[in-house]
Amino acid sequence: MTHHHQADPAAANALARVRGRAPEIRANVRRLAAFASVHSCPTAAVAFAARVDTNRVLAGTRMEMPFGQSPFAIGRGVAFEALLRRHGHAELRRVLTAGLDTDFTFAAIENLREGYPPNRAGLRMRATVTRTRMAEIAGSPADPVVLDGAVLEADIGGLPAFFEADEMAIGVGGQIIVGENKSWPVVDGKPTDEDALGAALDQAATYVLLGRRTLGQAGVDPACMSDSVVLVTPRNTGLAPSLYRQDVASRIRRIERLLSAVPDVQETAAATPASVTFDAVADQTLPESARLEEFGEVTAVLGRVYAPASCLTSCGFAWACRQRLFADADPGLVGGQVARALPGIASLSRVAELGQGAPASPVEAPAAVPLARAGRLYDEVMPPAGPAQRRTA
Ligand code: SF4
Repeated sequence: MTHHHQADPAAANALARVRGRAPEIRANVRRLAAFASVHSCPTAAVAFAARVDTNRVLAGTRMEMPFGQSPFAIGRGVAFEALLRRHGHAELRRVLTAGLDTDFTFAAIENLREGYPPNRAGLRMRATVTRTRMAEIAGSPADPVVLDGAVLEADIGGLPAFFEADEMAIGVGGQIIVGENKSWPVVDGKPTDEDALGAALDQAATYVLLGRRTLGQAGVDPACMSDSVVLVTPRNTGLAPSLYRQDVASRIRRIERLLSAVPDVQETAAATPASVTFDAVADQTLPESARLEEFGEVTAVLGRVYAPASCLTSCGFAWACRQRLFADADPGLVGGQVARALPGIASLSRVAELGQGAPASPVEAPAAVPLARAGRLYDEVMPPAGPAQRRTA
């Protein structure tokens, strides 16, 4: 992986122009994982490179998707975090001591969430403290140290990004262990939500990977970062914390591949036409129709690779893209596999016509035969209220 920590200013400007006044989002683990599942879509790649928050660009339109946590879950998270920290982190000390076979009763707990400016400069300072404390593991310190709110710096597609880990326990049998706090319950020793568990473990695995790179840069053996991570979660229905430890070696390898597949920001910027910007799409003073029209133009210029399953779960543009595909009656609507099986055919309306036995042009011929055979299936696949206001054939 290349490390150009100074992004070329021209690329940075180009991407700032692409973003315009659209809401910005920093790279974080969840965002990275979401992008990984739609990375073959050029629109998604440009939005990712330009740090456009796809979940919020369409806010105020009917195409805004309901992402994000419920206020109830957020409230529970805040309460759980406060519980861990109160009385000098007494609960956190207790749960780490019980779960890690190391006495954290008198461990130094350094709270990096306080005392630093809440901006990039503050993150960079916290990253420096984190790196320094991590490197101390090489001198085998007598007492363990916990960093509350450790910050790791990483190069994501050629731009520096900061990642914030809930805890980093340093000096557990000569190793460093990453911890994440989650407020969803573990009932009878099992997390109740498998998806949330997977996402939390991916998050922790990313910190292990970035932590290893940080150690390597500091000249310390990266193996000092443990392959196992801990999740601190409430036990059963109350808020009493308990610790869940798991090996994430295979997740670390997967995330390493994922990071190396992030497109280079400079290349993305260079390949993006100057006319492309999400500025008007996000402009809440414009009428909805104008914003969606802009969206259609931007995505038409960049191109879309619409795959319903991954788009709907991983991209904030999914409803808007689906609507565009309906409007264009694009075969992509029914998913990439079907679209690939219909080479040379411009629209679903045309699919329907061929399915009903319309004569095929030479370019349509390879797909036309099976289509005619499968003609009646089309009516079952597409709901009757579906596309085809426009005949593009
Ligand atoms: S929803 Fe649209 S922009 Fe997002 S990944 Fe899918 S096709 Fe691309």
